[in-house]
Amino acid sequence: MAPLQRTAFATRAIHQDSELSGAEVAASLSLSTTFRHPDPEVDGVEPGYDDEWDPSRPSRDVYSRETKPTTTRAEHVLSSIIGQPTILFPSGMAAFWAILLHVRPDIIAITGGYGGCHEAIKIYRRTKGEDQVQLIQLDDEYPHGKKLLVWVETPLNPLGTSRSLDKYAKRAHAAGGILGVDSTFGPPPMQDPFKWGVDIVMHSGTKYLNGHSDLLAGTVSVRDKADWLKLWNDRTFTGANIGSLDVWLLLRSLRTLDVRVKRQSKTATRLAQWLATQVGGGVVDKVYHTSLQDNADELLGPGKQMELGPACFSVVLKSKDMASRLPNKLKLFIHATSLGGVESLIEHRIISDPSENPCLVRLSIGLEDFDDLKDDWEHAMQAVRQ
Ligand SMILES: *Cc1c(COP(=O)(O)O)cnc(C)c1O
Repeated sequence: MAPLQRTAFATRAIHQDSELSGAEVAASLSLSTTFRHPDPEVDGVEPGYDDEWDPSRPSRDVYSRETKPTTTRAEHVLSSIIGQPTILFPSGMAAFWAILLHVRPDIIAITGGYGGCHEAIKIYRRTKGEDQVQLIQLDDEYPHGKKLLVWVETPLNPLGTSRSLDKYAKRAHAAGGILGVDSTFGPPPMQDPFKWGVDIVMHSGTKYLNGHSDLLAGTVSVRDKADWLKLWNDRTFTGANIGSLDVWLLLRSLRTLDVRVKRQSKTATRLAQWLATQVGGGVVDKVYHTSLQDNADELLGPGKQMELGPACFSVVLKSKDMASRLPNKLKLFIHATSLGGVESLIEHRIISDPSENPCLVRLSIGLEDFDDLKDDWEHAMQAVRQ
């Protein structure tokens, strides 16, 4: 849809799929798994697949594991706002697995980040042969001559600190490798990893793309349509499809992504800065957020890697006891895992990740009013001090 390419992000999130719509204004819910074949005598079309059949823009749907209307529409919108061809999966983990299957790396450079990705790499190594896949750290020297996947998560779970994509893109490419990014903590319009040389971008769509804590989804975005087609083939024949209800809810959610993410980012950045002023008050020991890291000026701001600060970040409290009690003293923050929804969440992180610092709590900022969230923290800090 050429004219729309010149429109702003917020506009494309709402209108990019309009040519795929009927007269209805809100997308219709389509649950059918199968679709009526054309009758050549009536429709003038043969029922088989023709050579021109493009699954990213199917002339018709046949069976929903291949294509279905709402997934096509959601992928149109996602491809436009992420900026490269994008394919949907039923979860972030399914998206990451699809990347491993697509790249088939012999060496993976990875340090920290979302625990599930490390578990998926263990499965990948088990299936490919432990000795066939070498694991190295992100800041190690990258060997040449083998298929290298450099995997960077930024902003990083659970801290909400950022890593330079430009640096890792240059290093990965110099070694003949490719750079993949888990950009879940930095959804559009917070950051555009492709601007900094990244080859593959993954999102857990369960988080900001959905934003309402009511569906699982994952996305993979690639620079090349040929790669999109390979991923579509693999998805079709591994059966890793997003459900019809989930993708309908996701398409609904994308309409408001721009306002949600901008507001969440603004409130979160203010709250992180305010919490940083509470260090020394007996409860807060340290606050992690991209705006508070040493090289914040290099990474955050207009035209920088992060246009907007992350809306999920971490606070280290004075003691493990405080970290376990404070989440239950807050009235507006819900003590639960996950992030990206309209409601603010807090989690004593050790519950989900036993290797984490026991004094650390992770915050996901929703769409509530800043002053209310700040008051909530003031009262909860008072309560745990006693
Ligand atoms: C949640 C999350 C995932 C996994 O996504 P699911 O949708 O839960 O499968 C991967 N990476 C990060 C950074 C996440 O926050």
